[in-house]
Amino acid sequence: MTLRKKEMNNRKEEGTKRENLNKLESEKETNEYNKEDLKALEERNIKNDDNEKKKLIITNEKSFIRGMIVLMMMIFLGNGAICKACAQAGNNNPISLFQQNDSKESDNKQKDTEEKKDSTMVGTSEEGKKYAYDAVEVERKLKNYDYSNNGKKMVFLTFDDGASTTVTPKILETLDKYDVKATFFVMGKTIEDGGETAKTLIRKEFNSGHAIGNHSYSHDYKVLFPGRSLNFQDFKADFDKNDKILKDILGDNFSTRVIRCPGGHMSWKNMAPLDEYLSDNNMASIDWSAYDSDAEGKKKTANELVNYAIKSAKGKDMVVMLMHDTYGKEETAKALPQIIEYFKQQGYEFRTLA
Ligand SMILES: [Zn+2]
Repeated sequence: MTLRKKEMNNRKEEGTKRENLNKLESEKETNEYNKEDLKALEERNIKNDDNEKKKLIITNEKSFIRGMIVLMMMIFLGNGAICKACAQAGNNNPISLFQQNDSKESDNKQKDTEEKKDSTMVGTSEEGKKYAYDAVEVERKLKNYDYSNNGKKMVFLTFDDGASTTVTPKILETLDKYDVKATFFVMGKTIEDGGETAKTLIRKEFNSGHAIGNHSYSHDYKVLFPGRSLNFQDFKADFDKNDKILKDILGDNFSTRVIRCPGGHMSWKNMAPLDEYLSDNNMASIDWSAYDSDAEGKKKTANELVNYAIKSAKGKDMVVMLMHDTYGKEETAKALPQIIEYFKQQGYEFRTLA
């Protein structure tokens, strides 16, 4: 081979190498971009639910591809419902209404709504009122994915599916120690399972200035949302049953206008009848804007829960933090001090939903 030919071959080889290198670089960049996108998506929306992800796919303005990535993740990872730990008791005995009369004449509707706005339907004690924040306003913001708050940082610690005789006492102890207030979305079936001890814990929550919200009696998706679609009559009967239990514990004057749908409001179809009912009665259904991931996937250590909580709250002025205080959530109780310390360090004010 002549020298010239050799040189030409070398150049050609070098060219191919450079081309491959460029290709690799650009592939790397694309991967990084996808990774960034996924991260942003994850942070923007931590709700692990089929519907929510579908909604995300639809509303995501960036690209269809991004949606496809999420869809793939859903298929590969599978989706556990939130609050899997809950008992599936199944009950739909209509007992009473939430606390309102839903057979109002339309003429009186406006007047009744006005009256309710002035009533003491807050789900918290007199002492607790000073920590209470307007749940209807929080609901409105959450529905719009609006986590801003004019630069004022505010966190709502929320605990679902209690009161349990094992975890709730530890949670209450920590909240007391740090002198912060939280909202308990309690569940009738769990309270019944815990007997007098659970009832005492509900009283303690209330008397300590925490807020109490209604999270249904049964938590049974098959009763509340058969075929993933709201059955309003059975839903209402189930929530009424829980409300009656709370009144028996806290007195007939107790009432709460704040509910949390099992699995989250955003997870289900045909929610219009509930929305209309809540709106007519000045009530609010509260989902969340962050969570510690203590009810999905594999069981996590306290440290992992802390990391999830912080990651999902990042960049949000208004944080509604979903956690659980039902049976088996000991790690949540262990994680709570660090979670509280984080929000304190970041300058968040701790408020309750009422
Ligand atoms: Zn739940």
